[in-house]
Amino acid sequence: MNPSARLDINLQQLADNARTVTDWCNQSGIEIAGVVKAACGDVRIAHAFTEGGVDMLADSRLENIDRLRRAGLQQPMLLLRSPSPSQASQVVEQCDLSLNSELASLRALSATAEQLGKRHAVILMVELGDRREGILPGRLPDMVARIQDLPGLDLVGIGTNLGCIGGVRTTEYNLGQLVQCAERVEQQLQRSLRYISGGNSGALPLLLQQRIPERINHLRIGFTILQGKNPFTDQPLSGLNTGLFTLNAELIEIQTKASMPEGDIVVDAFGHVPQFEDRGDRIRGIVGFGRLDTDLATLLPRDPGVEVLGASSDHLVLDLTESRPWRVGDSLSFDLGYGASVQGILSPYVRKTFIHDAQADRGHRHRAVPRSVE
Ligand SMILES: *Cc1c(COP(=O)(O)O)cnc(C)c1O
Repeated sequence: MNPSARLDINLQQLADNARTVTDWCNQSGIEIAGVVKAACGDVRIAHAFTEGGVDMLADSRLENIDRLRRAGLQQPMLLLRSPSPSQASQVVEQCDLSLNSELASLRALSATAEQLGKRHAVILMVELGDRREGILPGRLPDMVARIQDLPGLDLVGIGTNLGCIGGVRTTEYNLGQLVQCAERVEQQLQRSLRYISGGNSGALPLLLQQRIPERINHLRIGFTILQGKNPFTDQPLSGLNTGLFTLNAELIEIQTKASMPEGDIVVDAFGHVPQFEDRGDRIRGIVGFGRLDTDLATLLPRDPGVEVLGASSDHLVLDLTESRPWRVGDSLSFDLGYGASVQGILSPYVRKTFIHDAQADRGHRHRAVPRSVE
C-alpha cells in the first residue's frame, strides 16, 4: 500500500549534530547524555546519537529503553522520568542511572538492587523554579541522609530540569543555585559528586557564551541535536544541521473556495471554535495527513508561499494562492519542529525513510550564522 505521508529522517545529519554538540560539551569538561525520547524507541535514531559519540543515552520511557536494549544497544542508559516504586526492577535491570525525587521509589530501587546483587546509581533532582520534578533545596540534607542509608544505591549526583512546564529559562543564577546545592551535599557526604547535571538543551546557550557555571559537568540534550536550534529563540545554531525531519504528502484536492465558512459555526471535533479571516476566494489544497500524524504548531511548509489553514484528524488544509501552481498528486514537503517530528514518528500512518547522506539537503546547514545565540 502506498502510504499517504512519508517522513524522511536524515541520520547522517543527526549523527553530525550529536558529534558537534558532544564536542561543545566535552571541550568544557561536560559529559552529555543524548536524549532519544523523541525517537520513541527507534534504534536507528539512537544509533545516530551514539555514532556522534554521546557519553550516554537517556530516555524518559522504560518501554523505549526496553526496545533499545533488546535491539542490542549497550551504552550507559539514564532514565529521565522518575520511576514509580513498581518499576524498580526494570530500572535496575536496564538502566545504569536514574533521575529521582521520591523516597518511596528510591527505597524500591535500593531493595531491588540488593536482591539482584547490584548497585544502582541515582541523581537526585532539585526543583529550582520550573515546578516539575525535584525536591526543594531545603529538603536536601534530610533526603541525602536517607539515601545514604539505602545500601543498594549510589548517590552519584544532583540535577535540575528547567524550561519544561514553567517555561523557566536556564540562567547563571539558577545553575549557580544548583552548584551551591551540590557543594552543600558534598560537605554532608564528605566526598565529591560525580555529576552535577545542569539540565537540557536550554543550558546550551549559556555554554556557548561560556557563562555556564564551572562545576556543571553533565547535560541531557535532545532538542538541539534533533533540531539544530536554540530552544529559546528557535533560531539555528552555527555548525548544526536543521531540517533533519521532512514530512512529504500528496495533494488530494485543489479547489478555489471562499475563505469564510458558510452556515452556523459550531465547535470542531477537537473542541475548538474555528476562526477565519475573510480574504475572499482562495485556492485551497488538501494533503492526506492530519492531526493524528502531526502537530500543527511546529509544522512548516518548505514552500514559503504555502500557508497552513488548519487540520482535522486526517486532512491538512492549505492556502496555495500565493505559491506556485500545484496539481493534484504533487508532493508537498514540510519541515518538522520537535512536536511535529515526534507525532510523525509515532503515527503508524506515516512511513519512515532514513537518509544516510549528510549533503542530502545542503540548503539547511547553517555555517554563516555567528556562534552567538541570543
Ligand atoms: C526531555 C528531557 C531532557 C531533554 O530536553 P531537551 O530539551 O530535549 O534537550 C532533559 N532532562 C529531562 C529530565 C527531560 O525530561
